[in-house]
Amino acid sequence: MQIKFITTTIVLVFLAGVSYAQGNHSYWQQAVDYTMEVNMDVETYRYTGTQSLVYTNNSPDTLNRVFYHMYFNAFQPGSEMDIRLQTIADPDKRMTEDDKSRIASLSPDEIGYLRASSLAQDGKSVSYQLEGTVLVVDLDHPILPNTSSTFEMDFEGQVPLQIRRSGRNNKEGVALSMSQWYPKLAEYDFEGWHADPYIAREFHGIWGDFDVKITLDKDYTIGGTGYLQNPDEIGHGYQTPETKVKKAKGKTLTWHFKAPKVHDFMWAADPDYIHDSYRMENGPVLHFFYKDKAEILENWKNLQPKTAQAMKFFNENIGPYPYEQYSVVQGGDGGMEYAMSTLITGERKFESLVGVMVHELAHSWFQHILATNEAKHEWMDEGFTSFISSLCMNTIMNRQNPNPFQGSYDGYYSLVQSGKEQPQSTHADRFEFNVAYGRSAYSKGAVFLAQLGYIIGQDKLMATLKKYYADFKFKHPTPNDIKRTAEKISGMELDWYLTDWTQTTNTIDYGIKAVNEAGTGTEVVLERIGLMPMPLDILVVYNDGAQETFYIPLRMMRGEKENPYGQVKRTVLEDWPWAYPDYRFELSKPVSSIKAVVIDPSQLMADIGVNNNLWLAEQQ
Ligand SMILES: [Zn+2]
Repeated sequence: MQIKFITTTIVLVFLAGVSYAQGNHSYWQQAVDYTMEVNMDVETYRYTGTQSLVYTNNSPDTLNRVFYHMYFNAFQPGSEMDIRLQTIADPDKRMTEDDKSRIASLSPDEIGYLRASSLAQDGKSVSYQLEGTVLVVDLDHPILPNTSSTFEMDFEGQVPLQIRRSGRNNKEGVALSMSQWYPKLAEYDFEGWHADPYIAREFHGIWGDFDVKITLDKDYTIGGTGYLQNPDEIGHGYQTPETKVKKAKGKTLTWHFKAPKVHDFMWAADPDYIHDSYRMENGPVLHFFYKDKAEILENWKNLQPKTAQAMKFFNENIGPYPYEQYSVVQGGDGGMEYAMSTLITGERKFESLVGVMVHELAHSWFQHILATNEAKHEWMDEGFTSFISSLCMNTIMNRQNPNPFQGSYDGYYSLVQSGKEQPQSTHADRFEFNVAYGRSAYSKGAVFLAQLGYIIGQDKLMATLKKYYADFKFKHPTPNDIKRTAEKISGMELDWYLTDWTQTTNTIDYGIKAVNEAGTGTEVVLERIGLMPMPLDILVVYNDGAQETFYIPLRMMRGEKENPYGQVKRTVLEDWPWAYPDYRFELSKPVSSIKAVVIDPSQLMADIGVNNNLWLAEQQ
């Protein structure tokens, strides 16, 4: 008995220690459930709504304030979005006309707005203040850790003329593109509040269940986030086959949607939408909404099997799509990802239509399920999406591209040459130039992964993506999370890679300094010119056509990748300690037998000066 007692005590002490440690460091995230009813007037583009929002504070902190995003207020003359548009050197062309801000010329009945007309916390009204696109709410009573509060809001809004992402009457004639349309509670996480003003781009939201009822003119078809709860009452292509839909009595229909576990809710509506459903084998139902316009019909039909192929590709290469539905909706001003759906412009050439669908669909994984804070880490969201989209396009469009990421590398190189580069850790709104934001987030972000494949090996890169998805789905992963995942898969240390690539503008430049005679053999002298460290693959081609490779691991990476050129003999050389500017190694064959020496024949290492990566005997 005595012995058993002691054992139990030790076990208890040990367990208590574990839970204490987890309590200090464990991951948490807030939760929110929305129930909304909105009424849209399709003549005036004004809408009213009620919102009941249950907010659960899973943080260890007591909250005295909360913040809502009221995005539509950005579309007003004099807003931060308008002023930024007028003062940035390279404004977004979609938002200007004759180089002038389109927001600045909106008349009062063309602007967007979203206002709270009443707000109560657990039945008691609270004071609030609208500061641009953010509603600041002083709570009636604090929300303690692990408790919930219910907020009831009445709101009214006006849909702006389509300027950016959302709006009415976009250039392709879609009546309503309703993204960022409702009062949206800002995210609070381990870094605190993220009540960013809406100036240009990128969102961060709280997971939750949405229950949304939309009442509008019965001639309009709605597509977007969420499963329709009353399809046989609504019709419009949603009804179960063979069902006769009763004619609506009044002028309006009330559409009831539910969307579980999402952090955003988008819808679009138009009286001329064609609505097609495409049921995937062992997959979700795909919905397509597009204007009944002769010249786009064929493209939108052919888009449907391509969407299924892309869905299958992402399921296999990242992880299973967790919803039963995905909708591709014509609307917006280019392409933008939303929960279970996308808004894309539809009057495109087929290749471009597929390209934008693939990109936005990929965001279902890299934003809507792996919900990185894209205002702070835009490269994880846009970059990873661009990476996997390039791979997907290579497969589903049967492109035989040896380097599907070439466009991303070229974008990155042009960014470096422009002299406008800022570190990737820059907030998405704080880039001096739009072009620098774009190349940093999309191109350099995609290169982050493609080049990670060069460092740890392609198989390990793809295994990293799968583990990253499995470990962080429905969470807000940070840059450290992708790095740690790659470290666990590869056994290497990669902090140097994450730090130099994403938090600095250091560049990679290695070169072949000399190829010298050394006794009966050859000495190859390499140099590191750029500050950024990398491991090196070296290919040697002999005059008789024989080839061999040499691998120089970086010392601080404390590991080695597998031979990427399995069919060619590889010699693993001594590590290169980064601080040394030069590195030498010897070949047993004489200089006269060598045709070429090449640094990184895959060109997946983003070396900004490639001329010195190739030594050719004939040029000596
Ligand atoms: Zn994107």
